[in-house]
Amino acid sequence: MHLAPLALSHLPIPMNDRDIVRVMEILQGELDRGIPPVITRYSRKKEDPYRILIATMLSSRTADEVTEEASERLFSLASGPQEMLRLSDEAIARAIYPVGFYRIKARYVKEISRDLLERFHGKVPRSMRDLLSLKGVGRKTANLVLTLALDGEGICVDTHVHRISNRLGYISTKSPAETEKALRAKLPRKYWSDYNSVMVAHGKRTCRPISPWCSRCPVFRFCDRTGVTSSR
Ligand code: SF4
Repeated sequence: MHLAPLALSHLPIPMNDRDIVRVMEILQGELDRGIPPVITRYSRKKEDPYRILIATMLSSRTADEVTEEASERLFSLASGPQEMLRLSDEAIARAIYPVGFYRIKARYVKEISRDLLERFHGKVPRSMRDLLSLKGVGRKTANLVLTLALDGEGICVDTHVHRISNRLGYISTKSPAETEKALRAKLPRKYWSDYNSVMVAHGKRTCRPISPWCSRCPVFRFCDRTGVTSSR
């Protein structure tokens, strides 16, 4: 069947592998112009992997500013696992308040510190399997620690990464687990470690969960806007 050129020009063009290179270049530039997420800043400062691990665990369901202030208060009391074990659960909870689930996380801080000393000579382990064996450490935290604290290989998939990768049309997945698998299969390795930081910053600033700012988005021309029903 013959399609008129006008009709063809209105067909969506799926995002291709070359586009992701441009998207990453543009969004990396945006990340450098703004304030990067706290864990990214810790990583760039070459912060100790133990402190990156603890701060990452604290950061789940917690705003960036709260995570940063809570982490700084905690690390001013104890900067390594040995010192941390000398603090009571109550003292840790007070230091990290008001991060989400601060009482449970205070217990995790102690259990992680004890585990590191007893099983890993006080060091943060470098394998995904060992990281996942630590209390309160899920795949998202483990991937972030692997890539940002230990220069390892991984892609940290959180809600921003999952949402934006699908909106862009780069992948088509239903869950973060599927997204991690799909990105591992097609995202060039040189972007693995930065991908989370870039997408988190873009997701907070522009590609918001509800009504994204498409009108001022620097990667608009590459985006399929899959599933976007209303935008600003
Ligand atoms: S164009 Fe809209 S949906 Fe696409 S990345 Fe930008 S803000 Fe998100």
